[in-house]
Amino acid sequence: MSSAYQVLARKYRPQQFAEVVGQPHIVRTLGNAIARQRIAHAYLFVGPRGTGKTTLARIFAKALNCAKAKAPTAEPCGACDNCAEIAAGSSLDVLEIDGASNNGVEQVRELRETVRYAPGKARFKIIYIDEVHMLSVPAFNALLKTLEEPPPHVKFLFATTDPQKIPLTILSRCQRFDLRRIPSDLIVKHLRGIAKAEKVEVSDDALLAIARGANGGMRDAQSALDQLIAFCGNKIEERDVLTIFGLAPREQVKNLARSLLDARRAEAIATIASLAEEGRDLARLLDELLDRFRALLILLTGASPSELTEEELADLREEAARLQRGRALRILEILSAAQNQMRHALSKRIHLEIALLTAIETQNEIALEEVIARLRGAVPPSSRSAHAAPATPSSDPPVAALREAASGASEPAIAAPLPEMTALWTELREAAGRSVPMLKSALAQARPLSLSGDTLVVGFDRTMEFEKDLADTPKNRETLVARLREITRRPFNLRIVFADDPDLPVGGGSGASKKAASSETQPEAKETFDHDPHIRKALDLFKGEVVKVKRPAAK
Ligand SMILES: [Zn+2]
Repeated sequence: MSSAYQVLARKYRPQQFAEVVGQPHIVRTLGNAIARQRIAHAYLFVGPRGTGKTTLARIFAKALNCAKAKAPTAEPCGACDNCAEIAAGSSLDVLEIDGASNNGVEQVRELRETVRYAPGKARFKIIYIDEVHMLSVPAFNALLKTLEEPPPHVKFLFATTDPQKIPLTILSRCQRFDLRRIPSDLIVKHLRGIAKAEKVEVSDDALLAIARGANGGMRDAQSALDQLIAFCGNKIEERDVLTIFGLAPREQVKNLARSLLDARRAEAIATIASLAEEGRDLARLLDELLDRFRALLILLTGASPSELTEEELADLREEAARLQRGRALRILEILSAAQNQMRHALSKRIHLEIALLTAIETQNEIALEEVIARLRGAVPPSSRSAHAAPATPSSDPPVAALREAASGASEPAIAAPLPEMTALWTELREAAGRSVPMLKSALAQARPLSLSGDTLVVGFDRTMEFEKDLADTPKNRETLVARLREITRRPFNLRIVFADDPDLPVGGGSGASKKAASSETQPEAKETFDHDPHIRKALDLFKGEVVKVKRPAAK
């Protein structure tokens, strides 16, 4: 290494807006503002570390102060005194301040003194405060005074990774630019250029691995390349990069994702075991799995994830073909919950294993959209018109019921799997008896009559009116419903009725015997339902049962 060695990030720092990588929206807007001479007093660059905030600020400073042009220019010459001094960080008219170490009110007061004087030889006095969110509250207040009445020769440029910590009074006086993480393919392209200029041989897999490890930060990517050159010399392979970052090989991440999708549990566990033994960073591995499923979800919505190479995209398309959106969402939920738990966990491996096995189980959860799609497929073509025009009353009960189920009507005719009624009643009786011993013998006189989507109906014989009234006092009802909900973990209701009540299976309020106008239970109709092939298929799909038959209201 020669004594003139310069870190790559500095050596290859973009000097023109056109060279800035991955922030085209900002470059365009700033360029336009300069071209039209509509330059604000204060700018705020927000973005993750190493995405180009300081680089943009320096180029902007040159654009404002370049001596070659008569006015601010979007293409500073880079050669005049002002440009050269700004690039070297030695311009007396451009003050670069680290907000983290100069965060007191005293420093800001000094700053206010400085800005009162006109610039020495440049057009503007430019104050650049990096990590501006680190300023103390009094410092912000002092800064605000200057921002409220800025001298015309002063421009403020702020940068932050954490805009939430900046007071609104400051934010509202800045023009804000949000830098995004730089897509992997752009980082790869940029690094390839550097490697070529440095005469270092870096394989494409290695470049991609560096980009993955840098997670959208160009500076981190360049530092990694620096380190790799120092460790490995002039030839860099993927495994070198993976070792430095503790990353799992991309192939292994893919294998793990596919084990998950295809429910190959043993294989998933074995992959985690071998990666853990190799000392790979398991939290990082989970991050990568999350990124992968996030990209899959984006693909499934019909959009195209932007930060991927063609090869990665082809892989993902193959996986997307085997995945429904509902399941992708569930997997993402499970993995991101695990991500939170892993952050503070001593043993990350167990959390990763649990998350993967749980995510594999989503295979058995039938996604609603899939059920609906299958249901639609179950409806014969002749009745499709009924789907297209749902307002038309149909006299065909099976089709009407199917439509109701498929459209998620509030009172579906087909119930989701329910706890077994008799067992539930026994458990409820015992639990309620423990809470209110007096209820025990009263409830022993009742029997469960029906269990529908959200209501358990229990009945007493007419001769047990006293027991029924006892069970149905407001306080006892409350106890019963509370126990019922604890047992089922569902928002269940309880109806207490006389067992010979004529309109029992109709839903309704507690103990009320009002009859819903449009609903009617007909044993023969239920019979017809049970044997209808479409209904059978629907019941099969939902693993449901027919609880009630409801005819559509007459027109
Ligand atoms: Zn210049």
